[in-house]
Amino acid sequence: MITRQTTREELLKRKETDPKKGRGCQFGSGFILPEEIPKLAKAKGMGVEEWKKQYLDEVEVFHTKAFVLKTLKGEKPYGPCIFLNQENGECTIHKTKPLYCSLTNGEEPGEVIQWFQLTEYVNPGDPSSLREWHAYCEGVKVIPGGRPEEIVGKKRMQEILEYKDLKKDD
Ligand code: SF4
Repeated sequence: MITRQTTREELLKRKETDPKKGRGCQFGSGFILPEEIPKLAKAKGMGVEEWKKQYLDEVEVFHTKAFVLKTLKGEKPYGPCIFLNQENGECTIHKTKPLYCSLTNGEEPGEVIQWFQLTEYVNPGDPSSLREWHAYCEGVKVIPGGRPEEIVGKKRMQEILEYKDLKKDD
């Protein structure tokens, strides 16, 4: 079972295979952690800023800045990841595949995606992040330890939902 306390190492060990072919790469891409960027840029023989400009979009996830790989969606609302070889369905950066892609190719991708979001983008010190996470958690099954009141306590979460923190919030 995956919980909020599950470590990255444990998740990577659970992964029995790391297939070259990603399940959802035809319809979207993956998140990139800032610390992964230099290695990916180096593998392409590019500078960090050049690589970011060519391959990344900046998005906001639970009020936290995040990077996601560009897709080739054209006019459609979704499209294949920029690193997907559309002829053979393989990831063209398999050797330097980002953590998000490696983890979500394994079992229980829904739970893993929640774990990833909790670990990387839900910021317990940011009331806006917690409010957005709280809204997401309404009506979905959340991994153990991942509900907002489990992260900051019931009383604190109630204060946050009542915007009592507003002066500290941006
Ligand atoms: S980097 Fe590779 S595994 Fe990740 S979404 Fe793109 S094609 Fe798929």
